[in-house]
Amino acid sequence: MNTPLILDGKTLAANIEKDLKVRVQRIKDITNETPVLATIIVGNDPASVTYVKMKGNACTRVGMKSLKIEMPEETSTEELIEKIRELNRDKNVHGILLQHPVPGHIDEMACFNEIDLLKDVDGVNTNTFGRMTMQLDSFKCATPYSIMTILKHYNIQIEGKDVVVIGRSPILGKPVAMMLLNENATVTICHSKTKDLEDIVKRADIVVAAVGKPKFVKAEWIKEGCVLVDAGYNQGNVGDIDLENAIEKCSAYTPVPGGVGPMTINCLISQTVESAERKLGLI
Ligand code: NAP
Repeated sequence: MNTPLILDGKTLAANIEKDLKVRVQRIKDITNETPVLATIIVGNDPASVTYVKMKGNACTRVGMKSLKIEMPEETSTEELIEKIRELNRDKNVHGILLQHPVPGHIDEMACFNEIDLLKDVDGVNTNTFGRMTMQLDSFKCATPYSIMTILKHYNIQIEGKDVVVIGRSPILGKPVAMMLLNENATVTICHSKTKDLEDIVKRADIVVAAVGKPKFVKAEWIKEGCVLVDAGYNQGNVGDIDLENAIEKCSAYTPVPGGVGPMTINCLISQTVESAERKLGLI
């Protein structure tokens, strides 16, 4: 029977945290400063509240501080932009996270684009995307960075592979496709208007699912030996791939939970530590 490799993001994140803790302590010892991640949450979406809490807990675990800013549901784009500008100016803040999604009346992209590139530790600014795509020095979009970190850690070959990314959102599908392309994969990006999705997925050596629909990718679509990366996280702790049935066909997979999610938080924290190290002249 096929025993696929589990691409365990949870354990990997826990191991990387040990190193982050040492780096944070070094910053404190040398400069007497503590890295600070500012998290902005607008409204009371329960999933977002949980994510922000998890990010705050991760800061505490590595010895960083998190500055939590809660804004009411009715906040306007202008008010949110003003808050971001304030955090850009704040010398004690090293990273800024605007929790996605914001309420529908807010121009989210305009807000993302206000974040100072040097503090864009979640990698959501359009210029961050452009620089990352062109392989210039930049922070990286956290979830795609998490996926790439997992694939590299487990020595999954990317170069020359046929990779199908399902989803093209600015924070996930699009940037992960660019990162995979930069690693010399042949990348196909699918979306809601894609025809013959099943046939396209059937050709893939690696599938990255970023759709936001529970168990959307069916086991019958999966080629024998395929690597499955499930970025989805839906109610009931299920991803975007029908992993239960697809596992026996794949060679490796990210579990849900415990795969991409924990490493996303880790990448956010890691880039905040890096931001502090840069600002303080330690790297
Ligand atoms: P999103 O903004 O809603 O984007 C979903 C994408 O899926 C869109 O590009 C959409 O196509 C495509 N899509 C929808 N229906 C489709 C269909 N029938 N066939 C093919 N493509 C289809 O979602 P997102 O923010 O990228 O998030 C995707 C998933 O990842 C969600 O489950 C979310 O919870 C999860 N997520 C996880 C993390 C983490 O850290 N683990 C972080 C962020 C998000 P169109 O562009 O044509 O509409």
